[in-house]
Amino acid sequence: MNSSASEQLAAARQALFDGGDFLGFTLRHPLDSGPGREYILADGTAVQLWQTGILYICPAHSRLSGASLLISSGIHGNETAPMEICNTLVNDILSGDLGVNGRLLFVIGNPPAVNLQKRFCDENLNRLFEGKHRRAAPGDSSEGLRAQQIEYFTGRFFSPAGEVRLHYDLHTAIRASRYEKFAVYPYLHGRPHSLQQLRFLQSCDIEAVLLSNRPGTTYSYYTSRTFDAHSFTVELGKVQAFGDNDMGDFRGIIAGLKNVIAAGPVAGDPKQPLVLKVFKVVEEVIKKTDRFRLTFAEDVPNFTEFPPGTVLATDTDFSYTVKAPGECIVFPNAHVQNGHRAVLMVSPADIAQPG
Ligand SMILES: [Zn+2]
Repeated sequence: MNSSASEQLAAARQALFDGGDFLGFTLRHPLDSGPGREYILADGTAVQLWQTGILYICPAHSRLSGASLLISSGIHGNETAPMEICNTLVNDILSGDLGVNGRLLFVIGNPPAVNLQKRFCDENLNRLFEGKHRRAAPGDSSEGLRAQQIEYFTGRFFSPAGEVRLHYDLHTAIRASRYEKFAVYPYLHGRPHSLQQLRFLQSCDIEAVLLSNRPGTTYSYYTSRTFDAHSFTVELGKVQAFGDNDMGDFRGIIAGLKNVIAAGPVAGDPKQPLVLKVFKVVEEVIKKTDRFRLTFAEDVPNFTEFPPGTVLATDTDFSYTVKAPGECIVFPNAHVQNGHRAVLMVSPADIAQPG
């Protein structure tokens, strides 16, 4: 970084984050960052702190690409790597090293849970979107309020009509995975899946994509459904504590996001064959009572396949048995609340006919 870049970075950090960085400032002000702060970079790019953990960046008019890009992280508080990735991108933008060619919003989802080093404080934030938070009484949970806030600012960000809207919601998983990096494609209500987007994800080292088969309450489903965004939940590997992440593990996604920030939507090379594995949902296994059990070990990786006839889950008056060859488990968690999904059963699919 040359001296003018480091001077700009220091001045921007002073104005926006009291001299710290985006992530550190957000965690020092987990509920409210105070009145709006703004800094204009030398090239005319405006950087505005809209709310705690919600940072809006808009280049000068002549460099608007017609795309708006939302990058979220920390929707689950213990998933540190995505927040470190966003912090790095923000620093590169503030120093001027990374030029911005479209409107951009960074969201750090759940700062109070990050400070507790927990997935959430009261309830899973990624089950509260698409208006689900409105069914909770006001003040019921800190996540309910935050989901409302995030939806409000996301709506403000995606309000200009006619833009290509992109949303990558970055996560890390609780357990190991046969495909370390994979994406969840929200249910599209009949809209086609974007092969361009899948090529882009493949170029970011994403190895598999899981096509959802029903409406959801995740942040990526909300932006897909409400704003017609190309939205994905992107799982980047295993949860680690701050400082334990090897940024080299995330080279692909960082390079891909930098490309989109600097050059607009990146199609990926259309000549490259689509090799990432595609899965469709076979069944959501719901935990009904406290007697619910998964029959396999806690450390079995995501996308592990079980042969037909295997009993994978039992409950008071219910069990789940693998029906067809190729069925794999994803996101197993026997500790969810009753009534919530305890494991997702998936099987290989064809993107052209996802079924
Ligand atoms: Zn997560």
